[in-house]
Amino acid sequence: MNPTLPYPWAVDALRAAARVTRAVQQAHMTQALAKADHSPVTAADFAAQAVIAAALAKHDPHTPLVAEEDAATLEAAPPAVQRHVLLAVRHVHPRATWRDIMAWIAQGHGAPRGRFWVLDPVDGTKGFLRGAQYATALALVEDGKVTWGGLACPNLTLADHAPPGVLAVAARGRGAWAAGMQPGPWKPLHVSPVDDPREARILRSYEAAHTHGDAIRQLARVLGTSRSPVRLDSQAKYVLLAAGQGEIYLRIPPRLQPNYREKIWDQAAGALLVEEAGGKVTDLDGCPLDFSQGLTLARNRGVLATNGPLHTLVLHALRRAGIRRERPA
Ligand code: AMP
Ligand code: MG
Repeated sequence: MNPTLPYPWAVDALRAAARVTRAVQQAHMTQALAKADHSPVTAADFAAQAVIAAALAKHDPHTPLVAEEDAATLEAAPPAVQRHVLLAVRHVHPRATWRDIMAWIAQGHGAPRGRFWVLDPVDGTKGFLRGAQYATALALVEDGKVTWGGLACPNLTLADHAPPGVLAVAARGRGAWAAGMQPGPWKPLHVSPVDDPREARILRSYEAAHTHGDAIRQLARVLGTSRSPVRLDSQAKYVLLAAGQGEIYLRIPPRLQPNYREKIWDQAAGALLVEEAGGKVTDLDGCPLDFSQGLTLARNRGVLATNGPLHTLVLHALRRAGIRRERPA
């Protein structure tokens, strides 16, 4: 089935980004730098941002790009990392110069206002470094709402025997779709029909520091869930939920950072994918995610995404487990 989704060039850009991130991994060019916030960044993050920004410059040059990585960080990086970025980008743009690459990356400093693209070139960098799950996440936001979202997950498999690599794309009102990394047929994504919380599978961060493990265990007890939570990195979790391979996706601010606010590039593409696959996405207080507040979801606390039938039940359980406030702020 051909979904005739808008922005086919953005799908090609995600495939190109996956070639680049895989090249970095296969060539062992994964030396990590620590950013100012102590989070890791690698040549793959910069190279993937460069190839997506190059595609946007060609196909939609007047719409700002808001991307996670910063050209100044790469400028200050060790020469080996800079060389790895150049080598990786040249898998897609064989004649790219260092100046081209720096200019593409710097395009990601756009303002998150009105209509803009938002990019996490490597979501789940810690998973990428472990050889586990990661995603390149691109989305279009228009007046605070996500209208298009795409995720390239090079290490994810949805079906037994399929080669690793999933490209998942959604457009508002046009459904959610998945294909392999090579151009091929698209299949529609649908959430799971499970409505018994005891059978629900919870999808959560692999990294303990990115979520609140005790709260998730408490919620699982209140729900009577017998299945162990599935731990994996990045928005690949949203792809599993959209594909019916999990029912509840939770982001609960860590115990030590109760005021943590989600970055827009960590949620935009995945949230639309789940909605278009028939699921429901809110924050932990049941409010819709508001992408009009700058670089973070400043008005939302955490995220709850479900297959739909379980949503209200989980919101009640969050209150019973003491994770949801009586009244949203
Ligand atoms: P995940 O793999 O689902 O844990 O998501 C990875 C994303 O978590 C990264 O891209 C970070 O932006 C984000 N992150 C980093 N620190 C935190 C934190 N303390 N709480 C929640 N998310 C975080
Ligand atoms: Mg991220």
